[in-house]
Amino acid sequence: MVVPRLIERKRDGGALSGDEWRELIAHYATGAVPDYQMAAMAMAVLFRGLTDEELAALTGAMLDSGERLPRSATGGRRIDKHSTGGVGDKTSLILAPLLAACGVAVPMMSGRGLGHTGGTLDKLESIPGFTTRMPLSEAVRQLDAIGVVMFGQTEEIVPADRRLYALRDVTGTVESIPLITASIMSKKLAEQLDGLVLDVKVGSGAFLPNIADARTLARTMVGVGERAGCRTVAILTAMDRPLGRTAGNAIEVVESIAAMRGEAEGDLMEVTLALGAEMLLLAGGATGRGEAVQILKSAIRSGAALERFREVIRWQGGDPEVVDHPERLPRAPEIREVRVGRSGRMPPLSPRVLGEMIVAMGGGRRMAADAVDPAVGLEILPRAGQSVAAGDVLAIVHARTPASADDAELTLRRALDHAWQEDAEPLPLLLERITHDHAAPYGDPAWEH
Ligand code: URA
Repeated sequence: MVVPRLIERKRDGGALSGDEWRELIAHYATGAVPDYQMAAMAMAVLFRGLTDEELAALTGAMLDSGERLPRSATGGRRIDKHSTGGVGDKTSLILAPLLAACGVAVPMMSGRGLGHTGGTLDKLESIPGFTTRMPLSEAVRQLDAIGVVMFGQTEEIVPADRRLYALRDVTGTVESIPLITASIMSKKLAEQLDGLVLDVKVGSGAFLPNIADARTLARTMVGVGERAGCRTVAILTAMDRPLGRTAGNAIEVVESIAAMRGEAEGDLMEVTLALGAEMLLLAGGATGRGEAVQILKSAIRSGAALERFREVIRWQGGDPEVVDHPERLPRAPEIREVRVGRSGRMPPLSPRVLGEMIVAMGGGRRMAADAVDPAVGLEILPRAGQSVAAGDVLAIVHARTPASADDAELTLRRALDHAWQEDAEPLPLLLERITHDHAAPYGDPAWEH
């Protein structure tokens, strides 16, 4: 294998064979292929794309660079959910215990906050003592015992992606649909799933804001999943405003616990139940969407979902008392109400601006080594489209210092003024559903079970 010839071929619009991709990635994972050659290849892929065969070969080669979560003899069908990332997106925290309570095995391997978006691991780690770091053997032991584990990517899983993702991050090659697909799907396939539900975000707060790109990404990921024998369904959901009423870390755990108690409603529950129903259908736990939603709701009503979350916390070293006493979670010292200055219809607030504001408050990272402040965040009260009157509370800022609360208040006021000027219509919350043989607006009778 002469790497410069492979780069030239891709640069000029040609394709590499499966063996060439496998050899390239295997050598890159061991360090035999240097970063500068891989960066050039990533840029060539960004401009030229990959054929379906190349994408399957690249994903398979990345998967083979590491280990897989062992299959176990016990347990139900193994199903996971992956979101392309957003602000206030806490559905993983609710879905993992909820689906486990319905008999599905959920190996929820999640990530940390990335850019302006939050990360499930950071949210979970706001629970005192909770650990998300564990070897695969430990993850599978917990999965067998309680049907759910919520953990981070280990050194053992897809090491080629760890290296390639860090390289893409600094070489302007993140926004390539085939490279995103290979990166996400190699990690998901390493979980040896029976099914996967993808929540592909659309709108200004998504990594790929426009719907055409989001649709292509969804179709591409579904294709790779299905080719690898993993039933895969994608739902396109709105990220032109934050999801739910909170954004941050501990504050999102509080909202998730409320959701598992049956005390949340609106957009958060709509998205959670839509994704959860797909997971349950893939697991064979329901024959139709209506039935699936009823099963999920009854696992919430009976307390089974919350009880499973308590068990997860206990297994992973956290303080299970937070379930009944959320006040035990870290709480910021500076709580500030921000009120609306005029009356009107609440516009969608930019999730990107709010996400960056939370990062600036310490709730996310500017650099990989930064520590995250678990207590800071934001409650946003009125939902997009709702009528508000001057003097209503727009948001409650949870900040570490008065100066940080001042900055956040100013950012919120500017974000609201800007949104009011733009006066954009909020996107429909659930946009499209994409499977290997069907793509349709969400709720289309043609695919309703
Ligand atoms: N998340 C990933 O894991 N990989 C990408 O390439 C983009 C988002």
